[in-house]
Amino acid sequence: MICSQNEVKLYKDFHLTNYNTLKIDSIADYFYIPDNYGEMITLFKKYKEEAPVVIGNGSNVLFSSKGVKTPVIYTGGIKSYICLDKFINVEAGFKTQTLSKLALEKKLSGFEFLIGIPATLGGAIYMNAGAHNQTISDCLKSVKVYDYQKNKVLHLKKEELNFSYRHSVFMEKPYILLSAKFELKRGKKEEIKARMDENLIFRKNRQPNLALPNAGSVFKNPKNSTLSAGALIDKCGLRGFELGGCKVWENHCNFIINKGGATSLDYTRIVFEIYTKVKEKFNIELTPEIIYIGEMTKEEEEKWKILKK
Ligand SMILES: Cc1cc2nc3c(=O)[nH]c(=O)nc-3n(C[C@H](O)[C@H](O)[C@H](O)COP(=O)(O)OP(=O)(O)OC[C@H]3O[C@@H](n4cnc5c(N)ncnc54)[C@H](O)[C@@H]3O)c2cc1C
Repeated sequence: MICSQNEVKLYKDFHLTNYNTLKIDSIADYFYIPDNYGEMITLFKKYKEEAPVVIGNGSNVLFSSKGVKTPVIYTGGIKSYICLDKFINVEAGFKTQTLSKLALEKKLSGFEFLIGIPATLGGAIYMNAGAHNQTISDCLKSVKVYDYQKNKVLHLKKEELNFSYRHSVFMEKPYILLSAKFELKRGKKEEIKARMDENLIFRKNRQPNLALPNAGSVFKNPKNSTLSAGALIDKCGLRGFELGGCKVWENHCNFIINKGGATSLDYTRIVFEIYTKVKEKFNIELTPEIIYIGEMTKEEEEKWKILKK
């Protein structure tokens, strides 16, 4: 059912299957699609006590199969940009693959890695997404954020965002990214294009495309090991391992595929099984990258408490 409330698009009892790349079926009680960030701020003011959860492209989230009671805001409608000289100012819901192509058109280098990441800018900054020796924070100058506890819009410099490997200040503070300003480097169009093509070729055999529903790398690479998360999982004999509707991808063990009909509990169980096997064999505790959203079952609660500690 579609309603209109203060002109923000609202969908009730909304199926989230097409809003997460893992294609987990989940139902949001309230799903909003604002057209600009002013509308998003209005929603945060409306839900004072219970802050809504903001999602971008859903490429790093696990929605609960029990559903999501917290209102969900999808940023896909907040996507204006301005490009002036070497500077690009982009809003949170802008798609990262489009951003990569935009930079190419403007003969600007720094976003070549984004061509293979199916995200929005907001999600990429939250996660400090990166690949091929580039990260989203490399060319970032400043951001505009909304602090929903203080009800204030803040302008912050990159140095204030506490970036590290798949980490940012957005994981620590009640900030919502509204927009970001980048300074890119001038480059030759053919060279930028060649790097983007190289990145896509690199991914072709090492990462599943979205025809096989997945949420990217499952675990962070551990700091205290020379082996990657994928190699550790492989050495535990888990290549192709299946549990419920989920499966460890045969081509690269740090990816889990939804074979069809997987639930959040299936995904939780397989992640936990991998975590346990790697811990038993190598005494290394892998950390999952994915963000769980929604109502957990008792078993999920117990397992994620251990996984995210
Ligand atoms: C095929 C595939 C390949 C991938 N490759 C890579 C890769 O190479 N490198 C990499 O780092 N990741 C990769 N990923 C993972 C994923 O794309 C990234 O983590 C990405 O940054 C998530 O962006 P998103 O817009 O989908 O965010 P979502 O999954 O929608 O959200 C992720 C988190 O960001 C928060 N968030 C979203 N928007 C905002 C906002 N405006 N303000 C505050 N918080 C916000 C959400 O609440 C959530 O906690 C890949 C995923 C897939 C499916």
